[in-house]
Amino acid sequence: MESLKEIKNIISNSNSIFLTTHINADGDGMGSMLGLGMSLEHLGKKVFYFVPGEAPIHFAFLKNFKSINKNLDEGKFAEIFILIDAPNIDRVEGFTFDLSAFKKIIRIDHHLSNENFSHVKYVKVGYPSTSCLVFELIKELDLPIDKDIADALYTGLLTDTGSFRFNNTSEVAFDIARKLVLSGARPYYISRMVYEMETLTHLKLLGLALLRLEIVDKIGFSYITQEDFKSYNANENDTEGIVDYLRKEKDIEVVLFVRELQDGGYKGSLRSKNHIDVRKIAEIFGGGGHKEAAGFKTTLSKEEILNIVRKAIKDEEKNCS
Ligand code: 5GP
Ligand code: MN
Repeated sequence: MESLKEIKNIISNSNSIFLTTHINADGDGMGSMLGLGMSLEHLGKKVFYFVPGEAPIHFAFLKNFKSINKNLDEGKFAEIFILIDAPNIDRVEGFTFDLSAFKKIIRIDHHLSNENFSHVKYVKVGYPSTSCLVFELIKELDLPIDKDIADALYTGLLTDTGSFRFNNTSEVAFDIARKLVLSGARPYYISRMVYEMETLTHLKLLGLALLRLEIVDKIGFSYITQEDFKSYNANENDTEGIVDYLRKEKDIEVVLFVRELQDGGYKGSLRSKNHIDVRKIAEIFGGGGHKEAAGFKTTLSKEEILNIVRKAIKDEEKNCS
């Protein structure tokens, strides 16, 4: 593939690389960024890792987590900028560097986008995870891989496929999972680290969200407020994964979970189990994502959000029938 050759050239002709991913970084953003970064470091490159907001402590078990957001003043002068697991630069909230100072901009991603800021991209929309693309890149470019890199990439694959349950769990997902395990990834260890290290606070917030779950016309809805965060001494990371739990209810086709933001407004998460494309709904609020999983931020009230989502689903259903 042309773009792979170009990426290979760019990487071999550079010494310093700046890697970043989206706000509220998830397992895929983190795993893909750290996996690619470690491989580039093995090649002798200087790598800078930037995670907007706060790097989720959930993924502190991944090697090189400690390097995140270090030496960023120096990172400004890196030659190459690589955006990972995000469709555009707006998703890197709080990024203030001058992008034009980088010699080349690369994007590696599985989100749909019409961005035109990158010079080269390696993008496959609907692919199980960005970490699968990083794995392909590593193989095609003959970059080094070891067990820590394999663990990081497997983490991205495991989390973005919802443990090989979501609709993106294709043959490719299993093929690359197998290859990652052959490269030293440890599925049981990663499952424990990702799914069985929850804080008591998270479990209590999950309980609260479950108690509040209401279902109307196959649409599930629940929420967590700032007051809840205060009374449980919790932070926004403690709501990670709640929406994926809510979708387990048998009648639910689409689920909306919102958490109140510190400065007012809400962060919304949408999940779909059927033909409804929740990315389109998230876009109404200026957000985005995938057909089955999408998100947004808005200053509207939770009642207004729910009404808009219900109406959008009705409209989509009308168009389908
Ligand atoms: P989550 O609901 O887990 O935060 O996000 C689900 C999916 O939607 C992810 O692929 C994420 O990147 C995307 N997403 C979440 N929030 C936003 C947003 O505010 N804007 C855009 N463009 N995508 C989002
Ligand atoms: Mn992803």
